[in-house]
Amino acid sequence: MQDLGKRIIAGERRALAKAITLVESDRADHQAQAAALLTELKSAGRSALRIGLSGTPGVGKSTFIEAFGCYLTGLGKRVAVLAVDPSSSRSGGSILGDKTRMERLSRDPLAYIRPSPAGRQLGGVARRTREAADICEAAGFDVILIETVGVGQSETVVAEMTDVFVLLLAPAGGDELQGVKRGIMEIADLILINKADGALKPAATRTCADYAGALHLLRKRAHDPAGFPLAAMVSALEEDGLAEAWQNIEALDAWRAEEGHRAARRAAQARHWFEADLKQGLLDHLTRSPEVSAALQTMGAEVAAGRRSPRDAASAVLEALRRKA
Ligand code: GDP
Repeated sequence: MQDLGKRIIAGERRALAKAITLVESDRADHQAQAAALLTELKSAGRSALRIGLSGTPGVGKSTFIEAFGCYLTGLGKRVAVLAVDPSSSRSGGSILGDKTRMERLSRDPLAYIRPSPAGRQLGGVARRTREAADICEAAGFDVILIETVGVGQSETVVAEMTDVFVLLLAPAGGDELQGVKRGIMEIADLILINKADGALKPAATRTCADYAGALHLLRKRAHDPAGFPLAAMVSALEEDGLAEAWQNIEALDAWRAEEGHRAARRAAQARHWFEADLKQGLLDHLTRSPEVSAALQTMGAEVAAGRRSPRDAASAVLEALRRKA
């Protein structure tokens, strides 16, 4: 693993891909190697700006990532693109799976694109993407873009592994806000109204003003400088507004770094993932025990049938565990 680690830090593409395949593997020996590798890579001490990007299908995520990614590589930045898509194993196709979606960026030597790992459980998919981001960081990428379609809790999960979170929206037809969940508004640092071009421009302008107003009504967050979170317009197709979007992201990140918020956020995220991994690990470990697994099944059925309260059933399983321990 030391050798693989060195090759990643030296920027070797094949080593990078191999390492990500390792963290994505379910095999116990691969998992152990991956854990050792991630520890090894910490020594590189490198840091990348991690940007989360969410938006419903059709809003223009891949067009935006292609345009924005190329804009960044044009500035000489190395850009990695990752994804969290827990639905991909069900739908068959994964976001980013199809490289033709970002043809120009995928051919750019400064860019690296990796499709979402497969998996039905968000937790598992998220862990693999987060570790892939760690590997890309050690490999010397300057910017890591993490895309999600926002299935279930995936936006929250992506926000938990990024420094800045961007929500991409399309111009709305009417004057209604597009049913964006309040929780998503609260985690967004930047709302970009895409497709602000041609006949859609007036609608984009209205939508942008609506969201600027809605963001203004949210409670002020301690980790924001004046003016943030903000709403702005872009056209991924015409590559308009990309420089402004980047300036805003950079300014926000620089301010947070200066004020200590970036480090604090990363520390809180590390703790969050430690606890999440621990809980998942404990659960996996427990359900491998036949007795516990049986107790979980029985109590689950009891609860579903209304014969026991959830609290009572949970206590019974925990009691069985305590006796076993
Ligand atoms: P995704 O599903 O979010 O990845 O969306 P895509 O990037 O595949 O874009 C969906 C559709 O919207 C495609 O037909 C794009 O050409 C179109 N589109 C994307 N960005 C823009 C834009 O800035 N302006 C206009 N007019 N169309 C866009």
